[in-house]
Amino acid sequence: MKQIKYLLPEDRIPQQWYNIIPDLPGPLAPVIHPGTLQPVTADDLLPLFPPGLIEQEVSTERWITIPDEVRQILAQWRPAPLFRARRLEQLLQTPARIYYKYEGVSPAGSHKPNTAIPQAYYNKIAGTRRIASETGAGQWGSSIALACQMFGLECTVYMVSVSYRQKPYRKSMMQLWGAEVVPSPSSQTAAGRAILARDPDSNGSLGIAISEAVEDAASHEDTRYCLGSVLNHVCLHQTVIGLEAREQMALAGDFPDVVIGCHGGGSNFAGLAFPFLADKAAGKDLRIVAVEPLSCPTLTKGVYDFDYGDTAKMAPISKMYTLGHDFMPPGIHAGGLRYHGAAPLVSQLLDAGLIEARAVGQVECFQAAVDFARAEGIIPAPESSHAIRAAMDEALQAKEEGREKTILFNLSGHGHVDMAAYDAFFAGELENYAYSSAAVEQSLQQLPKVDC
Ligand SMILES: *Cc1c(COP(=O)(O)O)cnc(C)c1O
Repeated sequence: MKQIKYLLPEDRIPQQWYNIIPDLPGPLAPVIHPGTLQPVTADDLLPLFPPGLIEQEVSTERWITIPDEVRQILAQWRPAPLFRARRLEQLLQTPARIYYKYEGVSPAGSHKPNTAIPQAYYNKIAGTRRIASETGAGQWGSSIALACQMFGLECTVYMVSVSYRQKPYRKSMMQLWGAEVVPSPSSQTAAGRAILARDPDSNGSLGIAISEAVEDAASHEDTRYCLGSVLNHVCLHQTVIGLEAREQMALAGDFPDVVIGCHGGGSNFAGLAFPFLADKAAGKDLRIVAVEPLSCPTLTKGVYDFDYGDTAKMAPISKMYTLGHDFMPPGIHAGGLRYHGAAPLVSQLLDAGLIEARAVGQVECFQAAVDFARAEGIIPAPESSHAIRAAMDEALQAKEEGREKTILFNLSGHGHVDMAAYDAFFAGELENYAYSSAAVEQSLQQLPKVDC
């Protein structure tokens, strides 16, 4: 038999996260307060985040110990398997070897619990009683609900109203794990009431839901806020993916020529890629590719500049690739890839030329996801299909050039709760939306003026 899965025992769950901050090509840009337009201080952040996470956000320690309580819960699904995609290779008739790290084995079905668990832990030890957060289609909301349940924290999730109505199953998952789910905009916050006064039937947006969750946390002593992507500490927590994958590639006696991840806010990409960037810095010839939707082309068509994290301009301002905080991407099915910005760490690496970015259309992505599911069996999340498309294109290019190549990509989650998107694909209802350069131009006029 040929080996398919490369598995590590539980004692190989990483003991430390890899912090890329000391290995960046330059200093970290400051994070700016949205009100004062001055750099934020730890005190500004304390109403929202516990001290443990604020420290990690700016830490210059290369290795940060993972607390035993966190590793113990990660052991419910980690180490995650690495697969060799032999049946996909066969389908493509490619000389390339394709590997994927599968993060769909977590209880919530994606990589997001890798950071939800430590975020709940640092809140628990800081005395937080309740977490307020937001969710779009529900992947993050379900992950933070799970984590809060495991640490005995209460959890309120503001869920974008249109998803609350159209995608009921992740709402059910959040409720099963004990969270209160509030359709956003809601009458529970001033931000929500202001929107409802203007538009009682508002569908909501991620930007509005963030504003509601931040307001909830800032106005309650015992409540703090959590974010599922973008921030430095989130990228840090996700490095368990790449640290395990490096060991598993060694078990396979192989090493990637190209590492690929889909990119929404940047966390699953960072999680797989950052540990391999250390190899690149040490002289390995290795390409690292972030893949985003053509309809929300933050990395390939955005600018690298200071911008607000949310539409309502309540969240801190970061230096990042951005399409402008009021850019509204079309309603594609990969809901997790529709953020206007990008992780500042990923942005800095792209600006320095250490990683590449590519944009792909959703129709090609769904075709790749279906080919993958028919060959490998696993039904991918629509977000993950962007990485699959890019990996298949790399493999087809290797075939055309008649040379070997080792490809590693992150299968960030399964699509079991996204079957309506597959139904739409098979019904021929999906379109490739190109971004509108006029809309981006307009949004980029609204960037804050920061002198740093
Ligand atoms: C949320 C999500 C993403 C996008 O978020 P990143 O922070 O860019 O990783 C990708 N894949 C899945 C399965 C997700 O749930």
